[in-house]
Amino acid sequence: MEKCSIVVPCYNEEEALPLFYEETEKVLATMPMLEFEYLFVDDGSRDGTLEVMRALAAKDPKVHYVSFSRNFGKEAGMLAGLTEATGDYVVVMDADLQDPPELLPEMYKAVKEEGYDCAATRRVNRKGEPPVRSMFARLFYRMMNRMAKLNMMDGARDYRFMKRVMVDAILSMKEYHRFSKGIFGWVGFNTKWIDFTNRERVAGKTKWSFFSLFAYSIEGMVAFTTAPLEWASFVGLLFCFLALAFLIFLFVRALLFGDPVIGWPSLACMITFFAGLQLFVSGIIGMYLAKAYNEIKGRPVYIIREKK
Ligand code: UDP
Ligand code: MG
Repeated sequence: MEKCSIVVPCYNEEEALPLFYEETEKVLATMPMLEFEYLFVDDGSRDGTLEVMRALAAKDPKVHYVSFSRNFGKEAGMLAGLTEATGDYVVVMDADLQDPPELLPEMYKAVKEEGYDCAATRRVNRKGEPPVRSMFARLFYRMMNRMAKLNMMDGARDYRFMKRVMVDAILSMKEYHRFSKGIFGWVGFNTKWIDFTNRERVAGKTKWSFFSLFAYSIEGMVAFTTAPLEWASFVGLLFCFLALAFLIFLFVRALLFGDPVIGWPSLACMITFFAGLQLFVSGIIGMYLAKAYNEIKGRPVYIIREKK
């Protein structure tokens, strides 16, 4: 019988996790054609999440877990889950039931019968989300798809049902700065998109603030496109031409009208403008350098403290 691993990254989910388990069990009971295993990843939670996992593992042999030595972030949690998973299929799900388990049979069918390598999900609305956040999210997806030539779907969740080949492809990407939305697109494979309407988390609260999302989007861009570096050299070249044109203009004006000393305020403006531009561009270069530095150190993405 084929086996399916359910990977669930959890950070402070003591309230949501038991509900998640209960709801998912109901759905799994309707899918006798698969053998299941759970892989809960405790991402350094500071509440009773690990105790909940231990208790579930004690009563249900399907349940396995790994617990990190500290909080390493959801990306690290997903990587650990995918690494530990032994199934022919692997599903990644959030613990807060925002990823409806009812979709599992449909996702399985897409992969088993319809010839897809992966079934991924997408929220069709962003109800219950602050409008500014939705606006920036849309902007981000538009920019990423243009710059990185990746096929990233707006509203895509990390909730996916994948075949082993795709999981192995993802695991072969050894980068330290992991941006899964990009990685999923980068590895390719045939993906079926399943839409559902957004739902609120069952318990607990979201771990993402506006600024952590913003930082995450920068992370994604640096990981998947070097376009900003190309823009930087383009902007530099552009200003060289502008400077040349301006020089000719000044020269001709001095020839025609003499050279009264005026215009120091415009000079001051120009100096500050270009100083700012140069710092901005060095900042972009610095970001790539910093990521390269972290990659070279080759530190592990996560550290496991306890495992079952
Ligand atoms: N998560 C994690 N490590 C973190 C932050 C979040 O493992 O540092 C998990 C979290 O427990 C949940 C999933 O990632 O299962 C998604 O997090 P959340 O629901 O807070 O994000 P949102 O759905 O609001 O985007
Ligand atoms: Mg959530």
